[in-house]
Amino acid sequence: MQDIIATPKVTKTILDKYDLKATKRFGQNFLIDANIVKKIAMSACDEKTITVEIGPGIGALTQFLAMYSKRVYAHEIDKKLIDVLADIFKEEDIEIIPGDFLKADLSDMPYSDKEIVVCSNLPYYITTPVLFKLFESDLKIKKIVVMVQKEVADRFVAKINSPDYSALSVITSFKYDIKLVMNVPKTVFDPRPNVDSAVISFTPKEVDFKGDETLFFELIKASFKQRRKTLKNNLDAYLKDQDVLALLDKADIKPNVRAQELALDDFKRLYEVIYEDQSLR
Ligand code: SAM
Repeated sequence: MQDIIATPKVTKTILDKYDLKATKRFGQNFLIDANIVKKIAMSACDEKTITVEIGPGIGALTQFLAMYSKRVYAHEIDKKLIDVLADIFKEEDIEIIPGDFLKADLSDMPYSDKEIVVCSNLPYYITTPVLFKLFESDLKIKKIVVMVQKEVADRFVAKINSPDYSALSVITSFKYDIKLVMNVPKTVFDPRPNVDSAVISFTPKEVDFKGDETLFFELIKASFKQRRKTLKNNLDAYLKDQDVLALLDKADIKPNVRAQELALDDFKRLYEVIYEDQSLR
């Protein structure tokens, strides 16, 4: 494939040639701006990278990922696109994995034992399940770079004390450094979606935590359960008979704060006081 796919003209030519239409039910919005696609690929990989893409579509991003990385594996659910992709990328080192990524057994993929980067213009209807499948997998992920709806990106990158700061932001930042790579206007897609998008990246970080993760995440979710309520009120409901004021005092947290005023380290301290500090029992 010689021509750059991510242009309005080439996209139309490919869709016409193979008698294709973007399928709404698979969240198909094809990228038609080569500069944006190039930036996404460059922020994700280099010549040593094994890249995994979810949803190559007609290959707009795949083409640049192939240019910048060592090898690309691409999961595509739409049966109509499998032969088209094979035809478009006859010469590139790309392996198309047909089927639903959400049903794929990630311990049994050709890349399961390799260090990988995940890069995708995600189908918006499954953004969160795809991300959590990756977060909860045993894959050796070096970095995840994904295009998502702007409002979803805002929730992931939200800073403490902002309206978007939530249990999701805190729990994800526990294991990943999360960055906004760029905002992307809806005009660079065909068909054009109703909302703007953004590219965000997740880089795994060292986790210095010896407690029970499930319990820790439950505590964070319970703290944010009713945003308007104070942390104490939310914890009263969660911890039932415990003396929440004494616990907060011990964790050096003011009694009248709301969860959105607490940083990840505050939640870690709170966890330790509630579950590991024997002096209050
Ligand atoms: N990467 C292309 C681009 O940027 O132009 C297409 C992106 S489009 C937003 C999403 C792609 O994901 C489509 O090709 C769609 O068929 C595919 N897709 C949707 N659901 C999927 C799933 N569960 N597993 C794998 N691919 C899926």
